Amino acid sequence: MDKITIAIDGFSSTGKSTVAKQLAKHLGYVYVDSGAMYRAVTYFAMEQGFIDKNHFDVSGLISKLNEVKISLKYNDELGYSEMFLNGDNVEKKIRTLEVSENVSLVAAVPEIRAQLVKHQKNMGAEKGVVMDGRDIGTVVFPNAELKLFMTASPETRAIRRYNELKQRGDDVTYEAVLKNIQDRDFIDSNRKDSPLVKASDAIEIDNSHMSKEQQFEIILNLVNKTLKSS
Ligand code: C5P
Repeated sequence: MDKITIAIDGFSSTGKSTVAKQLAKHLGYVYVDSGAMYRAVTYFAMEQGFIDKNHFDVSGLISKLNEVKISLKYNDELGYSEMFLNGDNVEKKIRTLEVSENVSLVAAVPEIRAQLVKHQKNMGAEKGVVMDGRDIGTVVFPNAELKLFMTASPETRAIRRYNELKQRGDDVTYEAVLKNIQDRDFIDSNRKDSPLVKASDAIEIDNSHMSKEQQFEIILNLVNKTLKSS
């Protein structure tokens, strides 16, 4: 059977990566977390002092972009790929609330998007890929055979993200997590370059009241239908 491209977009913490990983494992496809790429560039910008709560030196960061080498390496034990930045495993470091608080500003910079989108297109050139993000069905793979757009209420998403961060041992409050989700949704949806919008041919899935298992079953049905018709 021919391989397809599956594009999963949606707001922050809508469970995109959970279902993308499940699908990739089930289908033997490659999973690419495009958000991790924007997070890695953001982590680099924070480490180099280009961005903090009070300032963002956009041109300084752009001038150093050629020093940002990111790669995803598959971890057999985990069953998914981890993000490496200039040779260091930054998988855990890029998931903090501090990185989340800066990432949408970094991701709004056209020069950064252009570089990462090129990388993403290359990774999906052979098909057999599940990629999640904000502009996958609209910009990265506009011809993807299956496009999903995930939503859930902000409160549901904030609880999920808060529990995730707490489980990792991060010191965060529910209010800060909810505010970050709302801020990112706003910046991601209103930026000039590749704003988060539902592609006209994407199927919307609101998973506010779905278990992970129910969601997977519904989406797997959509995948199987797409595979049969492609
Ligand atoms: O998916 P995740 O929540 O980790 O993404 C972090 C941020 O990266 C998003 O809030 C958004 O600003 C940016 N992003 C993007 N385009 C993508 C993926 C992520 O702008 N394709």
